[in-house]
This record gives sequence, C-alpha cells and structure tokens, in this order.
Amino acid sequence: MAVNIILPPSSLSLWNTKKLIYSTQIRFRIMSLASKSQPQSVASSAVYQVPGLDSHEMDSTADKTFERYLSNTAKRNGKGVSIVWFRNDLRVLDNEALFKAWVSSQAVLPVYCIDPRLFQTTYYFGFPKTGALRAQFINECLADLKKNLMNKGLNLLIQHGKPEDILPSLTKAFGAHTVYAHKETCSEELQVERSVARGLRQVVLSTAQGNSSRSSSTHSPKLQLIWGSTLYHLDDIPFSVGSLPDVYTQFRKSVEAKCTIRGCIRLPTALGPPPSVDDWGIIPSVEQLGLHSEKVVKGMRFLGGETAALSRVTEYFWNKDLLKIYKETRNEMLGPDYSTKFSPWLASGSLSPRFMYEEVKRYEKERQANDSTYWVLFELIWRDYFRFISIKYGNSLFHLGGPRKVEKRWHQDQKMFETWRNGCTGYPLIDANMKELSASGFMSNRGRQIVCSFLVRDMGIDWRMGAEWFETCLLDYDPCSNYGNWTYGAGVGNDPREDRYFSIPKQAKTYDPDGEHVAFWVPELLPLPKEKRNFPGKSYIEQVVPLKFGSSNKHHSQRSKYGGRHSGLGNR
Ligand code: FAD
Repeated sequence: MAVNIILPPSSLSLWNTKKLIYSTQIRFRIMSLASKSQPQSVASSAVYQVPGLDSHEMDSTADKTFERYLSNTAKRNGKGVSIVWFRNDLRVLDNEALFKAWVSSQAVLPVYCIDPRLFQTTYYFGFPKTGALRAQFINECLADLKKNLMNKGLNLLIQHGKPEDILPSLTKAFGAHTVYAHKETCSEELQVERSVARGLRQVVLSTAQGNSSRSSSTHSPKLQLIWGSTLYHLDDIPFSVGSLPDVYTQFRKSVEAKCTIRGCIRLPTALGPPPSVDDWGIIPSVEQLGLHSEKVVKGMRFLGGETAALSRVTEYFWNKDLLKIYKETRNEMLGPDYSTKFSPWLASGSLSPRFMYEEVKRYEKERQANDSTYWVLFELIWRDYFRFISIKYGNSLFHLGGPRKVEKRWHQDQKMFETWRNGCTGYPLIDANMKELSASGFMSNRGRQIVCSFLVRDMGIDWRMGAEWFETCLLDYDPCSNYGNWTYGAGVGNDPREDRYFSIPKQAKTYDPDGEHVAFWVPELLPLPKEKRNFPGKSYIEQVVPLKFGSSNKHHSQRSKYGGRHSGLGNR
C-alpha cells in the first residue's frame, strides 16, 4: 500500500520516542521515506494526505463497504417523484432521507443547493463564512457523492441559489410529492427549513401529479425532515430535550445505560431511475464561489467525500490498527495518526456516526476491545451532546453570555486578536496551532483547547471572535460542536463545573516535550535545542501578553508588549 506522506526528520524522533508500539509496517514506511528527505526543506513542506491511500485503493474500499451494506429486502412502494435535498449529509451509506425518498417514489431527484449565504460573512465580526479550504473540501464531497449516486443509477443536480427558491420550483417542474432532507438544529439552518416549508406550501400540484392519496384535486408537496446526524437518535434519548442534563457525564451515562444505537440504513443495489433532467449542473470552482483557491502545502491535506471517509475508517481501524491505542495517542498534535481525523467527514455528513459505531463493534469482535476502542465512542458522544444542547439552548449558544447568560467583561482589541489569528503571539505553542489551522483547516483537540483558553483567559478577548475565526477555517466546522466547545472553554457554557484554564508552559511540556509540533509549524524554532523550542526567550518574537497565571518555566521569557504579569494561582 502506498502512503503519500513525507515526514520531516524532526517528526521522526517524536514518533520513535513514543512508548507506544506502532506496527513495524508503519514504522518502516516512515523511516524509509524520511531517510531520503532533506532536513530543513522537508520540514517546511511535508504534506500528509488523509487518508493516505491511493485512489484505486479508496474506490475498492468504498465498493467493498457499500457491498457489505446492501439490502436484499428493501422494497419500493411509492409513486411519482420525490426529491432528496442534500445538506450536511453528503453520503449514500446510512442515509435515511435517500432511502425514504427511494421507497416512496418511482423516481428520485437528488439535489444540492449552493446557498450564497454560506459564502457571505460571519455574524458579528465579518470573517468569510466559509474559508477556501472548506469550500474545496465540500466540492470534493459533492463530486464524490455525484459519482456514488451515479453508480447506483442516480445523479446529483447541482443548483446555485437558496433552497427556499430552488426546491419549490423543482417540485413544481417535476411534480414531486415530497422533499426529504435531514433535520438541522441551529437557527440559520432552521430558518432555511421554515422558508422551504413555506415555499412548498405555495406550490399547487394536481393529484394526477405526485403521490397524493387525498381526494381533493390539488395538493402541495411536503417537506419531510429526518433525524440522522447523531449516534443516538433524538427520539431514543431518555429525556425530553428541554430536560437534557447540563453535565456531560450525566448525559453520557444516561444514554449509554438506557438507549440503543439504531443500525445503519441499508440500501438496495440500484436507486434509479432519476427523472429526466436536461442539465445536471456543475460543481463550481472555489474561485467561482468568490474565494481565492488555497493549496495545502504543509500539514494534513484531507480529501473530501464518502469514498475518502470510508477509506480513512479502514486505514485508521484496520490497515494501521490504530484504534487499539487511540486513548493513549489522542492528545498528541502532530501527524495524521494520533487521532481518527474523522471530524471533517462527520461534519459534512460524508460519514455516519452509526457506521463508525458498527465499525468499532466489528473491530472489537475481530481484533480486540479495550479502553481505546471504547474511548472513540466516548468522544463521539460529546458530538451528540453538543448537538442536543443546541436544541435545548437555541441561540444563546451564539451569544456573548452563552447558555448561562454570564455577565463578564471582554474586549475586542483587533490588533491583539490578529496576533492570535495569524500565529504571532510570541508563544510558540499558540502560534504553531494557529498556523496549522490557517494552512490546513485542522487543529488537534488539544490545540483547540489551548488556543481557546489563551484567547479568552490570557488575552481576555471576546470568545466569539475566536469561534467565528474557527467557523471560517475549520474543515470540520459544525455550529453545535464549535459553539458548544467555545462556550464551554470560555466558561459561559451550560456546564459550569469545568475550570478551563490551560497553562501554556505545562501544556507544552506535557504534549510537545521535544518541540516537534512547534518546530514543524514555526520552522525558525527547529535549530533550537528541543527543550527550548517551546521556550525560545529572546530568540523568538516578543510575547503580546503575559500569561494570566505567570510562567513556571525558567526558560520562559518575561518580556511582553502589554505590561506586567498577574500573580498566579493554580492551572491545568
Ligand atoms: P477524535 O479524537 O478522533 O474523536 C472522534 C470524534 O469524536 C471526532 O471526530 C468528533 O466527531 C468527536 N469529538 C471529539 N471531541 C469532541 C468534542 N470536544 N466536541 C465534539 N465532538 C468531539 N469538532 C467538530 O467536529 N467541529 C467543530 O467545529 C469543532 N470545534 C471545536 C472548537 C473548540 C474550541 C474545541 C476545543 C473543540 C472543537 N471540536 C470541534 C471538537 C474536537 O476538537 C474535534 O472534533 C476533534 O479535534 C476532531 O479530530 P478527530 O476527528 O481526530 O477527533
């Protein structure tokens, strides 16, 4: 199997000094590639493709997975045309909206609307709502979805415009009786759902069209919204959303004890025919979306689409056998293999969380079950939790005071914010993570917690500026997980028990002890002795602010642009 990664020698020592035992196969591959590389130049240009399979291997992985999920019993009993409105569910496998549309019709029309609102600006601070890297990733998801639908006898109609304008006119043109789509939970998406439903009510179809069993001679097409974004189904959780526990542990224990996870929806071999369409439309380039195209020249390059998503699951669980060590590696920051990296595909819906669950269970049966195999599900339940919390707390997730309506003084110093955003705060750990975010659209969970804490606790900056910048950049941007985690990190979230201060010196020593991550993203630190890379003193740019609780590291510079140090209490 060919793997498209080149690791800098500086990363080698990190991988090799880990106590964990990587498979000899992986270790050999990294060593052999690295031995050919040139120290400095490779360190500043290494790209890790995720997944690291070639296109032939990915196609064959996806084919085999689809094959395993075929249904021999699914029956079609509907009439007329139905529409599947794809949103953040860009997959074929375990897609209940697609399945229901097929069952209830004689012809399915799959549609994706390129909504111009997604390319405007963020709500408060006017950053691009979708950055170029995520736009590229979504385009790849669409191209792959189209391909997989075509393999099943369908196609994907690409339309430019607002769903509430497009879907009513399509239902009219095709006489479609129902639009099936996955339900969303946050205000902007809910607003679109309401507008689509309103638009459909204006459409008048004669009973000769569509699938109506009503006796009247006319009817309007329906919008049927389906729950499908979480591991646990909304209808199965053991409380009403209004009485959802605010504390994560209570939520998790309760769902684990009282709910079962529904099985993945299986699809028939063929889903066709689609209705006759003259022009299926084209996926626009990133430039056509009004963005400057960006290329990943360093760090992880994620490939969009369900084929890549299924391949990444196979690569991480089965080929590299990394699931069994996930719990020990998940807090690292460098390279593709310390964590699953499933989040960009989960956010776009190219990967179903229920499929992930079934793969974990299969792995536990065929290989082994341990704390690590469980822990991937433990983390996935956080995703569910923030999704349900977004229903419970609604728009307060986006407000300064958060769900708890905390009154606190924040500032919005633009210059200081820009040092954070551009990765030039003078703290290598912050700068490296922020540069990684801009260059690749990804940051580790550890990195996200650290930069969030720094922005809100050390800089005292309005947390929404950070959240909106993440919204622009992240490939895995999801309003529930993003704003849920930011409110949590800023101390305005629903769970007040967490103390979320992350001490930079402590985090650096624990999670980047040899300065591998900072040297990768801030190459001028590479020549420094490993123990100094996170504490470069005067050999690095001046620190913009002192740390709230000071620095306990003797190498740590005391200089800062914005005055003196606060006396310190304990920190994480
Ligand atoms: P893994 O460690 O392999 O975990 C497996 C899966 O569990 C992830 O893919 C993700 O779906 C889920 N998960 C893990 N941790 C969390 C968490 N804290 N909250 C919710 N789900 C979690 N995640 C997003 O998907 N979208 C976001 O917009 C997002 N914004 C974040 C903002 C901040 C400030 C912080 C601290 C975290 C944010 N996260 C977000 C959560 C988390 O950092 C990412 O899900 C994770 O880093 C993705 O990498 P992975 O797939 O390798 O995760």
